[in-house]
Amino acid sequence: MEGVLSQPMGQRLAVYCGSKMGINPMYEHAARQLGQGMAKRGYDLVYGAANSGLMGVIADAVLAEGGEVIGVIPELLMDSEIAHPGLTQLDRVASMHGRKQRMLDLADGVIALPGGFGTFDELFEALSWAQLRLHQKPIALLNVNGYFDGLIQFLESSVQEGFLTRTHCDLLKIATDPDLLLLDFLP
Ligand code: AMP
Repeated sequence: MEGVLSQPMGQRLAVYCGSKMGINPMYEHAARQLGQGMAKRGYDLVYGAANSGLMGVIADAVLAEGGEVIGVIPELLMDSEIAHPGLTQLDRVASMHGRKQRMLDLADGVIALPGGFGTFDELFEALSWAQLRLHQKPIALLNVNGYFDGLIQFLESSVQEGFLTRTHCDLLKIATDPDLLLLDFLP
């Protein structure tokens, strides 16, 4: 399979992913592989600052390879969320909305890994803003272990039912392998 993101990328990628680990070790493995691949190719990480689940795994992987990690955390969650202690930079924002806006502003492209509502929310906001041409940053989904198969099928059904254009559906680039996904991130 070819790399899936056709636009040349900048220096920072926002990664949306689970604050939980998932039950299959493949998820953790993919998050680590993506973080390592990013740092080796010179891409820094922008993410939601947490130290748990796949979020902690990818932050650790980028930092271990010498990459920089910017965490973005809402003030209201400072007490309840455990921020990763090794972050290069911690940006505090006023709200959850501010967090999504800041992460997207800081990034040259976004990648979603397996996760839950938080990840879905971030991914679909990036997609709906791209649909409105509020940004033109590439958006990719890393479909580890077929986790997103049902979602991809649903998006296809949305096109067939006339609620989503093919062009807008294709804003979401899909890959199954972290290294192949990153291939086209190289300038
Ligand atoms: P989830 O997929 O539900 O585990 O949420 C994790 C994703 O949503 C991450 O990419 C975060 O940027 C964001 N997020 C939303 N709520 C939280 C939270 N309480 N703790 C950590 N990250 C969160």
